[in-house]
Amino acid sequence: MTDRLTCAQAVRQFFAYLDRALAGEPLEALEKHLADCLDCCDRLEFNRRLDAFVKARMGEAPLPEGLEARLRQGLMRARVDATEES
Ligand SMILES: [Zn+2]
Repeated sequence: MTDRLTCAQAVRQFFAYLDRALAGEPLEALEKHLADCLDCCDRLEFNRRLDAFVKARMGEAPLPEGLEARLRQGLMRARVDATEES
């Protein structure tokens, strides 16, 4: 099963995608999903901004250990739960 990602599956790949850690089939599947899912395009844009914000902040003062990961997880969970009904 490589063709259709659910939104939840797509969202889980975002950080790898933003870090350019995706390649091959997972990357193609995600890009295919983004091409026809407006919701995930919006979420990706949100995550891109969050990523830039976190990286900019880290340049000034390091975030406490584990905070970045918890922040990301919390946001992901909130956004996925809010939109995933099935
Ligand atoms: Zn989607």
